[in-house]
Amino acid sequence: MKFYSTNNKKLRVSLKDAVLMGLARDGGLFMPEKISRLPARFFKTIERLSFQDLSYQVVKPFFKRDVPLKTLKNIINDAFNFTVPLVQLTDHIYSLELFHGPTLSFKDFGARFMARLTSYLMRNSKQGLTILVATSGDTGSAVANGFLNVEGICVSILYPSKKITEIQEKQITTLGNNITALEIQGTFDDCQKLVKQAFLDEELAKEIRVTSANSINVARLIPQSCYYMYAYAQLKNKQRPVVISVPSGNFGNLVAGFFAQKMGLPVSQFIGATNINNIVPHYLETGKFRPLPSKKTISNAMDVGNPSNFARMLDLHDSDVKKMRSHVWGAHFSDDQTREAIVEVFQNYNYVLDTHVAVGYLGLQEYLNKHPRSIQGIFLETAHPAKFLDSVQPLLDQKITIPPRLQKCLEKQKQSVLLSNNYPDFKSYLLSHS
Ligand SMILES: *Cc1c(COP(=O)(O)O)cnc(C)c1O
Repeated sequence: MKFYSTNNKKLRVSLKDAVLMGLARDGGLFMPEKISRLPARFFKTIERLSFQDLSYQVVKPFFKRDVPLKTLKNIINDAFNFTVPLVQLTDHIYSLELFHGPTLSFKDFGARFMARLTSYLMRNSKQGLTILVATSGDTGSAVANGFLNVEGICVSILYPSKKITEIQEKQITTLGNNITALEIQGTFDDCQKLVKQAFLDEELAKEIRVTSANSINVARLIPQSCYYMYAYAQLKNKQRPVVISVPSGNFGNLVAGFFAQKMGLPVSQFIGATNINNIVPHYLETGKFRPLPSKKTISNAMDVGNPSNFARMLDLHDSDVKKMRSHVWGAHFSDDQTREAIVEVFQNYNYVLDTHVAVGYLGLQEYLNKHPRSIQGIFLETAHPAKFLDSVQPLLDQKITIPPRLQKCLEKQKQSVLLSNNYPDFKSYLLSHS
């Protein structure tokens, strides 16, 4: 399949170029040239499919011309080797737990799939590939973990020294093997600047091939459509209309939901829920897109003032706010509301929400209150509460259990390479270690 740029539908590139370039040369985001409905047969048998078999059916149309089916099947089986349970909270509210992957984040789905696909696409290349990721804490660990032990690929992950939480630091610095944590004496912006400079450095490019794996990559997006289908597969009652609430920052997750809807997922409405960084809800309300500097909140993986996937949201709806409104309803919430929701859900259902998930829960609640029909709602549980212990634990009178895979990583020794924020230091490190 070919992929076009959201800035120019005529600019089409191969899968390999779309994945390795990340961003189109004209600054647009890549979109699959066709998103087809899956056959009725798929939806008839959906309940009997395992998550892996279902996922294979979902991604096949996008990749079948470029990746042998057997390889694609292996990529799915290897990347999606954990469960995705739909947990019922009330008669009509469900949570889709997306945190059972290695880093306790839904970002594991996209990162693990992309890593294996990239390895396949690079199979004939003599030059190794170095992935550079700058992280302010959260996203880096899913990417690094996704590429762990993947053949032919090294990852250098840059994080600002002493500016991330202990859990986040441990998740980045204890992987070993082909993953190196570079602890930069500076800020997150310094880390990003170093990475950008490396991408533009032609002298460096002669020696090593560097690329990014950030969330705009189309290879991270498509596999996320799978769990929307699997949520539906697990619903007992398939007659009642379904709405799905997505706690959002860059809106990649929601775009993957739109893809699933185009493939035939019978969802009557999505809810795009944000914290006070409410750029998209504001757009849905007023028709005006008004990016702003991001504001700090307790759901910080969603602190985005200029959502990168907005271009894809526009593309899917012909830049027509009315069309977009027919698919997504916007809502936004403060930190206080988020804290109250965590307390409320714990008291009522003995179920612990993370700060991001609580925003999704609030969005669903608000929607259900304003649309008192017989519908059922699912909110996406994008992270495990143990990941954001500092914000969640003080609200509860019961200790949050740390999952063993996180506990194990906390007990390991931190290993990082301390570097200044000067580009020449970073460059000489890359040249001597690739
Ligand atoms: C990244 C992230 C989000 C936001 O996802 P987008 O695809 O950027 O909208 C939500 N919750 C958590 C826990 C995240 O890490």
